[in-house]
Amino acid sequence: MVPLTDRILDHFPDPTVLLDGRRSVIYANGAARELLDITRVGHDLAMSLRHPRVLDAVDQVLGRDETRTVEVILPGNTTRNFEMFVSGVPPAPDTKGVGAVLVLRDMTTARRAEQMRADFVANASHELRSPLAALLGFIETLEGPAGSDEDTRTRFLGIMLREAKRMALLIDDLLSLSRVEINEHVRPTAPVDIAGVLLNVTEALSVQAKVANVPIRVNYGSNLPTVHGEADQLFQVFRNLIENAIRYGAKGEAIDVRVEAAQRIPGSGRSGIAIKVTDHGEGIPEEAIPRLTERFYRVDKARSKSVGGTGLGLAIVKHIVNRHRGHLVVESTLGKGSTFTVYLPAEPPRQGLLPGGGTVAMPSSDVS
Ligand code: ADP
Repeated sequence: MVPLTDRILDHFPDPTVLLDGRRSVIYANGAARELLDITRVGHDLAMSLRHPRVLDAVDQVLGRDETRTVEVILPGNTTRNFEMFVSGVPPAPDTKGVGAVLVLRDMTTARRAEQMRADFVANASHELRSPLAALLGFIETLEGPAGSDEDTRTRFLGIMLREAKRMALLIDDLLSLSRVEINEHVRPTAPVDIAGVLLNVTEALSVQAKVANVPIRVNYGSNLPTVHGEADQLFQVFRNLIENAIRYGAKGEAIDVRVEAAQRIPGSGRSGIAIKVTDHGEGIPEEAIPRLTERFYRVDKARSKSVGGTGLGLAIVKHIVNRHRGHLVVESTLGKGSTFTVYLPAEPPRQGLLPGGGTVAMPSSDVS
């Protein structure tokens, strides 16, 4: 039998409290002392944890072979959610007067993730519902007398096509996002031809760039190291960034794409390459920069929708850059333009090690 001394229990990460048969605290480990602010023992649990549901549960199991689980929200600087397990200990010669064991498990991160998932589903449904409502409205109108008018029909069908395309784009982006999230922890292991990727992107966007009268200039620095990556995903990254530069950049002003060697990638300190996409458009307000990669976040919602944006492009970029263990930096000056820099590390991934985490930091500094 392993002796469970106070000092051993002190190393348990979950707050743990032992109570006697009258609900007084006999022992609290370090995590419990900190969480519940317990400075001494011997007092009723109610003095440290004034939670009626917790106290009820404890009263029900004290000295009995029974357990209860209760969700508790503890106020503080930030509200934290805990799941509390309380297990009664029936009296026996070797239980040293312990009547119940109480263990709290921090569920804050899990609850937040659940909330984010729920918000995401609500947002995605809302985004799909508005084009769908428009389509249904037009179909109903066309079924009525207005449907026999040739001009009305042509105009409405045009709008319906646009709304249907918007839904299709949104579904494509939602699927991309979930695909990227699934393999985000698996770093790509094959070398990638960045110049080839950028050529494919500029070709794919050539018509859009021509219509907007925005030339795309791509420049390469010298001594570029090889980077590992997945071409299809990096194509999505640069298509999103260059398409945004066309959409939100100034008409008639060129977009500069510059690929250069980077001695130190921000956040990791490794060497690699930096691919900078610079436009000369309206810029982004400083307070919006940290939020750009949130799903469905748009600085100007109407503007994004009018240019066919889904609000998911930069969220997809963030996840792909993370998967490549890279880094995304956004710099912008209102009225002057923005630069989105994607850093990709040069080192080949070392086999057999756990992949390190990529980061996305978004300092809101001005374009120098
Ligand atoms: P969207 O589909 O709306 O373009 P993104 O996730 O790609 O979604 O971008 C989010 C928001 O960031 C856009 O709605 C826009 O407000 C802003 N944004 C992105 N790129 C630029 C840029 N180059 N210049 C100014 N604003 C930008």
